[in-house]
Amino acid sequence: MSTSWYANPGGKLGIMGIYLDYQASTPIDPRIKAKMLRVMDIDFANPSSDNHIAGWNARDRVDHARATISNAICCDAHELIFTSGATEANNIAVLGAALGAPSNRRRILVGSTDHKAVIEAAFAAELYGYKVELIPVDSQGLINHSEFKRMLNQEVAVVSIMLVNNEIGTIQPLDELVNLCQAAGAFFHTDATQAPAAMCIDVQKLRVSAASFSSHKIYGPKGIGALYLASNAPWKPRPLMFGGGQEYGLRPGTVPTHLCTGFAAAFDIISNEGMSERTKISKLRNQFKSLLQDAVPTFKLTADASMKHPGNLHGRFEGVDADDLLARLQPEVHAATGSACTSGFTRHSHVLLAIGQNSSIARQGVRFSIGRFTTSQEISRAVELISGAVHRSMYASI
Ligand code: PMP
Repeated sequence: MSTSWYANPGGKLGIMGIYLDYQASTPIDPRIKAKMLRVMDIDFANPSSDNHIAGWNARDRVDHARATISNAICCDAHELIFTSGATEANNIAVLGAALGAPSNRRRILVGSTDHKAVIEAAFAAELYGYKVELIPVDSQGLINHSEFKRMLNQEVAVVSIMLVNNEIGTIQPLDELVNLCQAAGAFFHTDATQAPAAMCIDVQKLRVSAASFSSHKIYGPKGIGALYLASNAPWKPRPLMFGGGQEYGLRPGTVPTHLCTGFAAAFDIISNEGMSERTKISKLRNQFKSLLQDAVPTFKLTADASMKHPGNLHGRFEGVDADDLLARLQPEVHAATGSACTSGFTRHSHVLLAIGQNSSIARQGVRFSIGRFTTSQEISRAVELISGAVHRSMYASI
């Protein structure tokens, strides 16, 4: 097989190979890129420049983007703060909200499968005397309600539980968790970064105090995200950065007009097309799952929860190290493990450990994630390539 065949077989992406890592980042939608380029040309002025029409025009663009996103997630425009991404939004919502809590509330509860940008932000609060506790989950990644009830009391400042998991794709029903949290008077944040690709978002219905979003998970540009902050949240987070008064003083710094426009266009498209897109993607994911199970009988699914991100397929090939497999698949297939390599040591995915896997099983975990530009032809070809790589990897380890 020459590289030219699998270079971009779907004909849409500008990279070589089959991209199955949409939950790490999505390619930018060309419709969004075109809008951003226009704004970069004409509305480059600082949207905080109050003395001239170029500044007012840039400000109008930002206001329009804020209104579009607020509309898409069902909140008021003044409840939305632009950030550099979900990492920053999570930090403000977890650490900032803890610092803003009344002085009798010094505990933070975080879902044990939450993203590191939530977990590490919570642990950063320990420097200020807060105590962090991880809420246990079951083998699907669903929060253990009785344990959560037991952990909640009037000393809890912040609860943070993600809506859709970035590794195993589990969708967390939040309703009852929010009821319990509200009864305890705590601030409830959800990391909704992966959610717009998986479901319709209505923050009013979710009844959370805060929710984090990121543009590059929904075909928008990298470098921008947002924090929804409910006007009826029990208190306001403290800012973590200081400077100009942008974004109500919570996130100072020049607002990037073209990124706001791109992010809003991304939300606009996913609000209008998301429903049919999710149906198409979940069909492809199911096709991928059954082809893979037929081709490689040692493929075992991880946490196949009933409510799941439509593009997520997480599993393991028994006895095959995931890093070895993914390396063998280069440059043809791009997928991911949840582990992070720090200073030469591989840390196993905290998500897989939290759902009860041991470290030797966890090191076999592979996440395939498909999205808007994935084709059925790519899926069939990926299965052939994966099956070959699994056999080579097993043969090499004998
Ligand atoms: N939360 C979740 C669930 C994510 O998947 C990610 C991205 N991997 C983040 C937070 C961080 O988002 P960003 O890259 O926008 O900082």
